Amino acid sequence: MLVLKFGGTSVGSVENFKKVVGIVKNTVGTKIIVLSAMSGVTNTLQKISNLLVLNNFKEAKQEIELLDKRYNNVIKNLFSSNTILSRAYTLLKNHNNLLLSFIKNGFSEIEEKVIMAQGELVSTNLFQLLMEEMDEDSCLISALDFMKIDKCGDPQMDTIKEKLLKIINKNPKTNNFITQGFICKNEKNEIDNLKRGGSDYTASLIGSVIDAKQIQIWTDIDGMHNNDPRFVDHTFSIDEISFDEAAELAYFGAKILHPQSIIPAKEKNIPVLVKNTFKPEASGTLIHNNTRSIKIRAIAAKDSITAIKIKSYRMLMAYGFLKKIFEVFEKNETAIDMITTSEVAVSLTIDNTKKIDKITEELKGFGNIEIDNDLSIICIAGDLAQNNKGITSAIFNCLKDISIRMISYGGSNYNLSFLVKTSDKIAVLNLLNKGLFKPINKIKNSILV
Ligand code: ASP
Repeated sequence: MLVLKFGGTSVGSVENFKKVVGIVKNTVGTKIIVLSAMSGVTNTLQKISNLLVLNNFKEAKQEIELLDKRYNNVIKNLFSSNTILSRAYTLLKNHNNLLLSFIKNGFSEIEEKVIMAQGELVSTNLFQLLMEEMDEDSCLISALDFMKIDKCGDPQMDTIKEKLLKIINKNPKTNNFITQGFICKNEKNEIDNLKRGGSDYTASLIGSVIDAKQIQIWTDIDGMHNNDPRFVDHTFSIDEISFDEAAELAYFGAKILHPQSIIPAKEKNIPVLVKNTFKPEASGTLIHNNTRSIKIRAIAAKDSITAIKIKSYRMLMAYGFLKKIFEVFEKNETAIDMITTSEVAVSLTIDNTKKIDKITEELKGFGNIEIDNDLSIICIAGDLAQNNKGITSAIFNCLKDISIRMISYGGSNYNLSFLVKTSDKIAVLNLLNKGLFKPINKIKNSILV
């Protein structure tokens, strides 16, 4: 069995919905098709919820009306059969009435989750109607019937497996199961979700419990690129990458995959193929465990980083100092990204500055504190095992004129990261691209170092 996940842009318009049907049709075998909400819809639903929290009913109603208009424009052009069209209208009417029913005092968190789930519920229903109109076999299954999380928000794998397999086995003749990404039920059996961008995670969880042959993530770019195409010319899509390298890149800024989504697939060793809905003929990027070893695979950047330096002579030859520092971050629920130490100072980075004032106050008890804002982490992923001589010099040779604030190397075999001013980020990405990757012909590139 295969899992095919299509993101928001892949189901973002009439034309794209039809492209997805074409891709499903051309994929042989039994599939579970996971869909996101149409692009922008989850943001709109979030906006509606926020307005309802503020009792701003007038604007909430306007947003609901705009969304309804958008959906109506889509279905008008999506379906040609009158019976299907009238079913789609009924669906949208119910959806609209549901959203309007929340215009009242006392909007709760549970109701917010119900609103957030509507984007995926609508897109999957419309897609199923389209498959029906195009005479394609399909069965719509609700993620709310099998996708379950516990009270910490973690997926309950055994329950998911048992419930999903029961549904699949009840429909032995179906080739195309359609379901929602992102949404789930929590331990109280209320509607909940896997957090923003969670549809990739849904696909990976499903792939894991059904032991899928492959998980395909269909998006709007030809797989993962060796560098950020928004800032660098002449990037290229990489044909394969290991789970470890992809995890480093996903965390440090490559937005194609949700970082958590990689874990269930990696644990079961299920290959993940990232493909482009708008260029299905492109080979995409295969994420798997048996990649050819390559020294430098790709580069990504993460912005909005704050560095904190704690300098103290009490650290000299002392033990237990780092523990005390880490405890401050733990107490303030703030994750640390990068860390470097010297005998008398420790520098670390965070990307969540909500509690920075409290953290700084508490750290002052340990020494002098310096804070730097507007920094970016540049992450270089590849097979960077320390015996791969020459890699670090090749990297830093490219950056002779750039001032570097911190360097982290050796934490894993797959990542070297360093910190620069965000104002230098684009220059750094371009210098590395030029220095580390060499075009060998117009289409393909190879790694220089
Ligand atoms: N629709 C949800 C979001 O925008 C989930 C997803 O698309 O992955 O976050």
